[in-house]
Amino acid sequence: MSISDFFNKNLKTIVSYVPGKQVEAVARELKISPDDITKLASNESPLGVCPSAVRAMIEYINKMNLYPDAGAFELKGKLAKYHDIKPEQIIIGNGSDEIIKDISFGFGGAGSSIVMSKYTFLNYKIYPKMFGTEIIEVPTKGLSHDLRAMAESIKSNTRIVFICNPNNPTGTIIDDAEIIEFMKKVPENVLVVFDEAYAEIAQKKMPNTLDFVRQGRTVMILRSFSKAYGLAGLRVGYGITTSEIAELMGKPRIPFNCNYMGQAAAIAALEDADFVQESKKVYKSGISQISGACKELNLQYEPTYANFILIRTGNGKDVYEKLMMKGVIVRPVDAYNLPEWIRVSIGTREQNNKFIDALTEVLASIK
Ligand SMILES: *Cc1c(COP(=O)(O)O)cnc(C)c1O
Repeated sequence: MSISDFFNKNLKTIVSYVPGKQVEAVARELKISPDDITKLASNESPLGVCPSAVRAMIEYINKMNLYPDAGAFELKGKLAKYHDIKPEQIIIGNGSDEIIKDISFGFGGAGSSIVMSKYTFLNYKIYPKMFGTEIIEVPTKGLSHDLRAMAESIKSNTRIVFICNPNNPTGTIIDDAEIIEFMKKVPENVLVVFDEAYAEIAQKKMPNTLDFVRQGRTVMILRSFSKAYGLAGLRVGYGITTSEIAELMGKPRIPFNCNYMGQAAAIAALEDADFVQESKKVYKSGISQISGACKELNLQYEPTYANFILIRTGNGKDVYEKLMMKGVIVRPVDAYNLPEWIRVSIGTREQNNKFIDALTEVLASIK
């Protein structure tokens, strides 16, 4: 007998989430300077932190002896105005990841099931496993969500459907018509989660999922300050839902889950439309730069509407490791059922060039 025999058996089978490798870790391993490393692995903002958030954080440094507002009154008020909904329809998370976990906890458990696409965000699968929930993975249309098949996969014990839009890691997007059709088929007691972590920087019009919230449907929209506003290090995300679900989600939440600095930064960031617009432009030109290079290299890629792109390099893990030896960190996606592909975040022109050069060399060395 060892202590691990007493460890929760649902947790034992979980394969822990593997984040994008940190610049400092690769620098230590390769014994080179962090300045010589390009990280395009975690869809972080290549433009840095949104400047209005920086100003707000500086102002808040001297308040760090105080507990934050556990109810995030001001941030919820700002978000409510921004989206034209009621503050009590908003929940704040330690990143939207925390909300994904709390939803999976709140509505999952033994005897229930969760529906999601075969190629989608890994955390949707990790958390339900913790709670003994069955995971139903639905085959895709190309690499995109097949909403018709997803609707048909809903069973009587299904409690949640996760829809990631634009989808991580494929970069695909689903439009209004498909979603409206889907929502007609979903039973009222199934929570539909629209994870819109990339909505603000999406390269195509986002479907109007807020309408479903306004109609009182059982939905939750997830947004994040990590990607569009460059605040990944602070961990602030939020959910928009019915006031009934928002209240329920207060139960599994840890008190003070969203820190003071994060709340202040998010409030300021929300007004920085210029930063988001500028980011969108950088991503647009980066997408054409990298997809252009893929065409020249004769590589299949998935047309993307987010700030990352999926490229079919063959043996993604091997290519990832070889790129890392050249100081470029990307993401292998074998854990996402896509072993032949890599996911590359869109960076600045210079970062993208470093990636393209390194990829060209790596592919030549493999041939
Ligand atoms: C990055 C990401 C998240 C997590 O965002 P945080 O707010 O940083 O927790 C959630 N969903 C998807 C699809 C993501 O890509």
